[in-house]
Amino acid sequence: MVKIFIDAGHGGTDPGAVANGLKEKDLTLNIARKMRDMLNEYENVTVKLSREGDQTLSLKQRTDAANAWEADYLISVHINAGGGTGFESFTYNGKYSGKQETNRKRTILHTEIMQALGSGIRNRGEKEANFHMVRESTMESALTENLFIDTKAEADKLKQDAFLTQVAKGHVNGLVRIFNLSKKATTKPVSKPVAAAPGKLFKVQVGAFADKKNAEKLADELKKKGYSTYIVQG
Ligand SMILES: [Zn+2]
Repeated sequence: MVKIFIDAGHGGTDPGAVANGLKEKDLTLNIARKMRDMLNEYENVTVKLSREGDQTLSLKQRTDAANAWEADYLISVHINAGGGTGFESFTYNGKYSGKQETNRKRTILHTEIMQALGSGIRNRGEKEANFHMVRESTMESALTENLFIDTKAEADKLKQDAFLTQVAKGHVNGLVRIFNLSKKATTKPVSKPVAAAPGKLFKVQVGAFADKKNAEKLADELKKKGYSTYIVQG
């Protein structure tokens, strides 16, 4: 089971960067939640968010939580400020074992995010810095800065839920490639039933029960999902 810790940057009394009617803490939480929901569609992965709501957390509380949980990977999600444009990612700039591998994983993440953001978004590059989140986390980690909240054209993008979905999708696509994740089997019918020639009807049996009540219960569940069912005694 791969354990992914997603840190929604800032929160509570710390709004992060604020401009153009947007607060960084709201955007990062929105992106983090979307990432969690998307990752829940994959097998063998479990996700923890640093905060589920608008809580105030110190940087130490965040890395302590990730370290105590023994996450396999930490991503800290942020929105940039300072009048620039584009996307950039960070790993720790110090000397540490596994640095090459940390940067290899980050390149995959960075590439997938740029791809998901689409053309017209400036690539500011893969960077290293002495940030608490990437320095004090004991697992491999990266910090992303997703566009500039104080650049009007970029704030306009950040106001669109569909764009935030793409930001989340890029992060998730990176994680899927890094950890070779595969989607859970879908429970929805894949196609509508087609009329079969007489005597050529193929039947799918999903369960056999000693107790008729249990058979009826499963039949009800399948009916709710759009399958037609009937019970036979065998
Ligand atoms: Zn930030």
